[in-house]
Amino acid sequence: MERMPTRAVRIGRVQVGGGAPVVVQSMCATKTTDIDATVAQVHQLAAAGAGIVRIAVDNPKEAAALKEIRAQTTVTLSVDLQENYKIAPLVAPYVDKIRYNPGHLHHIEKSKTIPQKVAWLVQVARDHDIALRIGVNCGSVAPAFLEKYPGDAMEALIQSTLYHCQLMEDLGFDRFVVSLKDSDPAKVVAANRRFAQARPDVPLHLGVTEAGLPPDGIIKSRLAFEPLLASGIGDTIRVSLTLPNERKHEEVLAGLQILADVQQGRFISVPDFGTGLNIIACPSCSRVENEKFVELAQEVKALTAYAREHRITIAVMGCRVNGPGETNDADLGLWCGPTTVNLKRKSTKIGSFSYDTVLPRLKEELDRLIAERTRA
Ligand code: SF4
Repeated sequence: MERMPTRAVRIGRVQVGGGAPVVVQSMCATKTTDIDATVAQVHQLAAAGAGIVRIAVDNPKEAAALKEIRAQTTVTLSVDLQENYKIAPLVAPYVDKIRYNPGHLHHIEKSKTIPQKVAWLVQVARDHDIALRIGVNCGSVAPAFLEKYPGDAMEALIQSTLYHCQLMEDLGFDRFVVSLKDSDPAKVVAANRRFAQARPDVPLHLGVTEAGLPPDGIIKSRLAFEPLLASGIGDTIRVSLTLPNERKHEEVLAGLQILADVQQGRFISVPDFGTGLNIIACPSCSRVENEKFVELAQEVKALTAYAREHRITIAVMGCRVNGPGETNDADLGLWCGPTTVNLKRKSTKIGSFSYDTVLPRLKEELDRLIAERTRA
C-alpha cells in the first residue's frame, strides 16, 4: 500500500507512522480493577495480533490496578482520558500512550486556558517518555470551535484538531498521533481526508465509534477504512465491535483481515448498506455499568430485525460516560445503568426500565415510530 509520508512516532516498542506497517489496536472490556481478567484480556488481544492495547482508567483505584497490570505484561499499553484529564500523571508511569479528547478539556479547572491544559499534558508525557493521541470525536467537538463555526460541525472538528496539533508543536512536542472518529463511516472518511490534506505528516489512528455487533460493525469499519487505507491514509486502526469478553480478540482479527484485503485489492461492495435499520452499539469497556450490556445489544438486534427496511437508527450504549450524549442523535436510544436501562427518543428521555422490561417498551416505541413515518 502507498502510504502518506507521516512522521514516525514511538509508542513503547511500537513505531506508528514513518512507513511502519499499519498497527492494529484493541481495547479491554474487562473491569480494570479485575487485574487477572484484564491481564488475560491484554494477552488475548496481543496474541491475536494487537500491537497496542487500550485500557480504561477513571480513578485512583483503577490507576493502582493499572500499575499491577503493567507489572504483569510487556504489551504496549495505552489509556484514554475521559473528562477527568487530571488523572494523567497517575497512569503515565504505566502506559506508553495517553489519549485525550480536546472536546472534554473544558469540563474541569475552568479557570485554566486550553493551552495551559495542553502544556500540562505535554509535560506529563515528557516526564514519563510517552506519546499522546489527540482523539477527537464528531459527537464531542470542543464548544468553543462549534461556536466559531456555527452550522459546520465538520469544519469545527478539523480546526479544533489542527489547533491542538499546533499547540503541541509550539511546545516543541511532536510525539503525538491524531484520530477523528464518528459512528458514521462516511463522516470518518470525510474528516480523515480533510485532516490528512492539511497535515499529511501527522500519523492517523482510524476508527468508527460504536460500530456495533458483527457483521454490521465490520462492514461499517470497512466502509470507512477501505477508501482511506487505499489512498494511503491511516497508520493504526481499531475495529470496535460489541462482543462478549471471550470473543473480544475478533476485533483484532477483523482489523488484520481488512488490512490484508486492502493490500491485495479486495474491497467489499454493499450498495444497500446504510439504507435501512442502523443499530449502533459501543464495544463496551471497563466502564460498562452492567454485565448484561452485550446480551442486551444482541437482543435489540434480534428484536428489531422485523424493521430492517426502515431508515431508523437505534443506539445501545454501555454506560453513563458516553451513553446520554451519544444516544441524542439516534431515533431511539438505550444506555445502561447498574440496574436499569434508560430509553430515549432522540434527546428526550422516555424512562428507565429494568433489564427485563425494556425490550417490550422498545418495541412499542419502534412500532409507534414506524406508524408515524408511514402516515407522514
Ligand atoms: S459507552 Fe461507556 S461502556 Fe461503552 S465503550 Fe464507551 S465508555 Fe465504555
